[in-house]
Amino acid sequence: MSPPARTARKAGAKRRSSRRPPAAIRTRRLKKVYGEGETAVHALDGVDLLVTRGELVAIMGPSGSGKSTLLHLLGALDTPTSGSVSIGRRRFDGLTDAELTLLRRDRIGFVFQFFNLLPALSARENVILPALIAGGHGHEHAERADALLERVGLAGRADHLPGELSGGEQQRVSIARALLMEPALVLADEPTGNLDSTSSAEVLALLRELNRAEGHTIVIVTHDPGAASMAGRVVLLRDGKVADEFKGGSAKRVSERFAALK
Ligand code: ADP
Ligand code: MG
Repeated sequence: MSPPARTARKAGAKRRSSRRPPAAIRTRRLKKVYGEGETAVHALDGVDLLVTRGELVAIMGPSGSGKSTLLHLLGALDTPTSGSVSIGRRRFDGLTDAELTLLRRDRIGFVFQFFNLLPALSARENVILPALIAGGHGHEHAERADALLERVGLAGRADHLPGELSGGEQQRVSIARALLMEPALVLADEPTGNLDSTSSAEVLALLRELNRAEGHTIVIVTHDPGAASMAGRVVLLRDGKVADEFKGGSAKRVSERFAALK
């Protein structure tokens, strides 16, 4: 391609993206029902959510409002009763189990409340794990794992076992692990729910930095208005529905909107 043509194409791509930002993940009329008949629980009751690339979205809601269910469906860890989830242009419901496994491995990074690290593996080995499951060789990824551990502030801790690390450090290992395969989307379900306030602040600062400086698309479920206040957008769930949605703001503003929900 000649340089002018390349420039023109680039400019075109830029114009398109500024008009309508590309969707990282989208749900349409998403429903999830657990159980049947009289005891059926409508955990999600028609959720339309669009997260665009580069966004940091916080999901809040009372306990039992469907936050974890939504995150699991976004991450293809579970299947909806009806409605759809798509990442980029790929709808999950058209995919085979094998394709879903690849999707989870390659496109989505998970951060859980209880870290989910394997206790007998070092920090480095835990970070490499997704690649090992993918059938890769660990040594190919060790360098990247070490770079990621450095990125999350754990240079020099690569050989430590999870039990030798604080909760905040363990959560940072799990964030490094989530980033290993360069996912399109990072999902975090109450990532600070098991941390003291200092560690929470560190983990939140890291997530914000990964979003702002490196453009990672992140969806975080949280109870903490302070955590939600760092998001570009806050989505409030109640009874399995989106009850309110607004651009982020101060922790006070988030608290007020959350209180108005109840
Ligand atoms: P949150 O994360 O907002 O606290 P959840 O998504 O975990 O809420 O749960 C939403 C609702 O679905 C709750 O009423 C919960 O009890 C129910 N629920 C969640 N998982 C299951 C399950 N595996 N089986 C039956 N009910 C479930
Ligand atoms: Mg939950």
